Amino acid sequence: MLVSRRQFFKICAGGMAGTTIAALGLAPNVALAQTRQYKLLKSKETRNNCTYCSVGCGMLLYSRTDGAKNAVSSIFHVEGDPDHPVSRGSLCPKGAGVLDYIKSETRLKYPEYRAPGSNQWQRISWDEAIDRIARLLKADRDKNFITKNEQGTTVNRWTTTGWLVTSAASNETGWLAAKVARSLGLLPLETQARVCHGPSVSSLAATYGRGAMTNNWNDIKNANVVIIMGGNAAEAHPVGFKWVIEAKIHNGAELIAIDPRFQRTAAVADLYVPIRTGSDIVFLLGVINYLITHNEVNFDYLIANSNASLLVDDDFDFHEGLFSGFDSQSKKYDQTTWAYQTDADGFALRDKTLKHPRCVWNLLAKHVSRYTPDVVNNLTGTSIEHFLHVCRSLASTKSNDRAATFLYALGWTQHSYGTQIIRAAAMIQLILGNIGVMGGGINALRGHSNIQGLTDVGLLSNRLPAYLDLPKESQPTLTQYLQEKTPKALGINEVNFWHNYSKFFVSLMKSMYGDKATKENNWGYDWLPKWDKVYDILQFGKMMRDGEANGLICQGFNPLAAIPDKQSVREGLSKLKFLISIDPLMTETAEFWQNHGEVNDVDPSTIQTEVFKLPSNCFAEENGTIVNSARWLQWHWAAANPPYEAMNDPDIIARIFLRIRELYQQEGGTYAEPIHYLTWDYADANAPSAEELAKDYNGKALADLTDQNGNIVVKKGQQLSSFTQLTDDGKTSCGIWIFCGSWTEDGNQMARRDPIDPSGKGIHSDWAWAWPLNRRILYNRASADANGQPLDPKRLLIKWNGERWVGNDVPDYTLTLAPSAEAGPFIMNNDGLGGLFCLNRLVDGPFPEHYEPFETPIKTNPLHPTQINNPATRVFPEDRARLGTADNYPYVATTYSLTEHFHFWTQHSLLNVIAQPEQFIEIGENLAQQKGIKLGDTVKVSSKRGYIKAKAVVTKRLPTLTINGQQVETVGIPIPFGYAGVMKKSFLVNTLTPYLGDANSQTPEYKTFLVDIKKISE
Ligand code: SF4
Repeated sequence: MLVSRRQFFKICAGGMAGTTIAALGLAPNVALAQTRQYKLLKSKETRNNCTYCSVGCGMLLYSRTDGAKNAVSSIFHVEGDPDHPVSRGSLCPKGAGVLDYIKSETRLKYPEYRAPGSNQWQRISWDEAIDRIARLLKADRDKNFITKNEQGTTVNRWTTTGWLVTSAASNETGWLAAKVARSLGLLPLETQARVCHGPSVSSLAATYGRGAMTNNWNDIKNANVVIIMGGNAAEAHPVGFKWVIEAKIHNGAELIAIDPRFQRTAAVADLYVPIRTGSDIVFLLGVINYLITHNEVNFDYLIANSNASLLVDDDFDFHEGLFSGFDSQSKKYDQTTWAYQTDADGFALRDKTLKHPRCVWNLLAKHVSRYTPDVVNNLTGTSIEHFLHVCRSLASTKSNDRAATFLYALGWTQHSYGTQIIRAAAMIQLILGNIGVMGGGINALRGHSNIQGLTDVGLLSNRLPAYLDLPKESQPTLTQYLQEKTPKALGINEVNFWHNYSKFFVSLMKSMYGDKATKENNWGYDWLPKWDKVYDILQFGKMMRDGEANGLICQGFNPLAAIPDKQSVREGLSKLKFLISIDPLMTETAEFWQNHGEVNDVDPSTIQTEVFKLPSNCFAEENGTIVNSARWLQWHWAAANPPYEAMNDPDIIARIFLRIRELYQQEGGTYAEPIHYLTWDYADANAPSAEELAKDYNGKALADLTDQNGNIVVKKGQQLSSFTQLTDDGKTSCGIWIFCGSWTEDGNQMARRDPIDPSGKGIHSDWAWAWPLNRRILYNRASADANGQPLDPKRLLIKWNGERWVGNDVPDYTLTLAPSAEAGPFIMNNDGLGGLFCLNRLVDGPFPEHYEPFETPIKTNPLHPTQINNPATRVFPEDRARLGTADNYPYVATTYSLTEHFHFWTQHSLLNVIAQPEQFIEIGENLAQQKGIKLGDTVKVSSKRGYIKAKAVVTKRLPTLTINGQQVETVGIPIPFGYAGVMKKSFLVNTLTPYLGDANSQTPEYKTFLVDIKKISE
């Protein structure tokens, strides 16, 4: 049913509105009264969390059932959970309208099948679907499994089928997918994080040691300066944004919004600063240059906690846009010189006076000296006055009693140098002393509700759970793998927590293979696939279009809309033999073969891909956890069963896997050992419960664990309470080591619901459970001075009491490690320090550097005209040929989200569709005038790769900027539109975007590309 905005208000006025409308306060009183009456009668209240964004707002789901056995529970009302410490009863338009998603008329009801060349779906039974899918998967695996590579090394990998897992699935579903995929030897296993926050992981891990938001939503209220850049929190994370307003009102914080568009965050900011999309590194390195040249530095913090004083290899250099070691043939760096100078013991040399010319600090000062205010103005379009205002505001937080926080999202990540943008901001925070302290941090505002969790679970083609690396083919033995993955400390007393790598790895293998994984068989090392290259979504998409892939499982993932250059993705899907879509809803991907007119103009008879559509549960119909942006694992409960024949995700995975295992038992096949040996001790083999899976990944003792005196501290079979209990001798199992402690002998810690906050500072330690070990602010040792006393007593996180660390937060440090040891607070880094210079952890340089986007409006890079783009970015030749130039596509386009919509899900939710009923683009008044376009005209926006048509919104929100002497216009393109759902059929925006990604993470460059625009009709 399609309803226009005008019709909607007529319906509301007629008193016919549903409870969702009532909950929003848009309906007449009588409807609201009816809602209340339901709750008083026979409703059941169930605690859950919003399925959309990573704020993870608390939700109360009300369902009705008469309580009789086998009675079907039906959710009829949703409202915010007033107990939830972050959302405190609030829901944004998406969350408030979620009932329309749960009950969408486009929810899938039965398994369906599309035969090769057919133009229709046909209903099939689950048994038929599972059997056919298992046979297709087994046939492809048997035919294409590689046991040894050309050099004769055992690699045991399967690359011709891919598996994409959503970022809204629970951790338990993710853990099961990880187990099954790796036991099959499947390498192309990816999650939505690749599309959005991949650079957050690579940059923050390279700088601080962990790739996650450093602080938490509530903590934002402690900030004195809030910089929102590369994101639009008021629009994309509306309820989390309340903590920014809290900081403004109750902490006198200054809010600065830096963005190409005057958006909803800017509308309530103290200062809006326009900037050209994609020029953020210039701005941020300009800030660092300002801080250094004006001596606005927290030197005590800097020397104690960052690697500013460490000495760098004499041969490290930077010249004309290239760091030392670049090979122009391979387009890769030899990183040998990106290293410290070390003494005879291998410890890094340092000069705490910061006078040595080779210390990181002086190399950094030289590197950023080119980023003067004039250069910032020339390349970003930001006025010098605005730029200096931001510099001064940030500089004000160098004192210990003030803090600045950066909030960002995809505006920073989705560039060919996204990782280095985030790095630049992370370095500013080290210089000012704003990491590990209340109100500080680099706060990656994650997108999907569990994008953090599924990143933690390790659903990426080159990862294992909890940031362990999947072995490469150049690591054929366990000994070599562990040697290369276990770092040596670069300082005498450093914690260097990754020295425990072998304990995490062996416990994972015990979790996957139980008794079959033994010391004698290297804990089943051969059973893991060994990779030759990273099978990220861009790599796998290329394999599809090159005819090198045969199958794809899309589990809550919509690659036709998510991977750039839709035409290229559709071409790839058309070459597959089979596609399996597991989803609660119809997706564009599942229907890629169907003609939807101009928005998807294909001929089904020419497409031979077999397609399966399997209906799964949505969030409201499952138990389990999702991880919010602040690393909180929040347990939620099912309020109803999946509708019709829909099945829970773990049940679908289990049935497919068990059928495959059965086929191998009956018929034999290629390398079936790991399939047979995979642990599967679930009460109902066909339906592993969330509780069983959660206990699984937490881990347990497989034998009595004893302390140094031989006393038993954990009995065989008991749940573990900390990853410090893990061993590498086969006595412990643990699927996801950073989640260890989430389900202990005391029960499910993730289900805790006490919102108490004795500190009054937004710690909320007893609500849910945060990884690691319930620490709420990462690196909190940095909040204390050399003697272990708080830098700001009013913002106490932890302090040394003479025997141990105590305080408001769980210490992110060894509990009894005294300050006199002088060990650094960044315990995951082997030097213990925050990385201004990040050594060889990134492929494109130890310092950030500004490169132009691959489609640049200024055709040059004034900083180094011979090196315009990021030299380390991987661009496939056929995709390079599909890049446009400013001659034909003179305008810069950027994509973004809307408050009312979440990607491609809310187009199934009627209320959200009514709120934003039609696809539109935004242009500034100057461009509109040049092109003769008025508000409401239909326009065609074209890139080298295709076009979309949409309504034009002419606005003052997009200023014309002067860049390198020329006028640059920006076209704003909201992303959440498509042709599946109850929305008017619309174009997929990725029709326009280029097929390339961030050099380190391959996250696509969605934020800056070139287009042309013209009016079609009024
Ligand atoms: S979309 Fe995000 S902000 Fe809105 S209700 Fe859901 S979790 Fe909260």
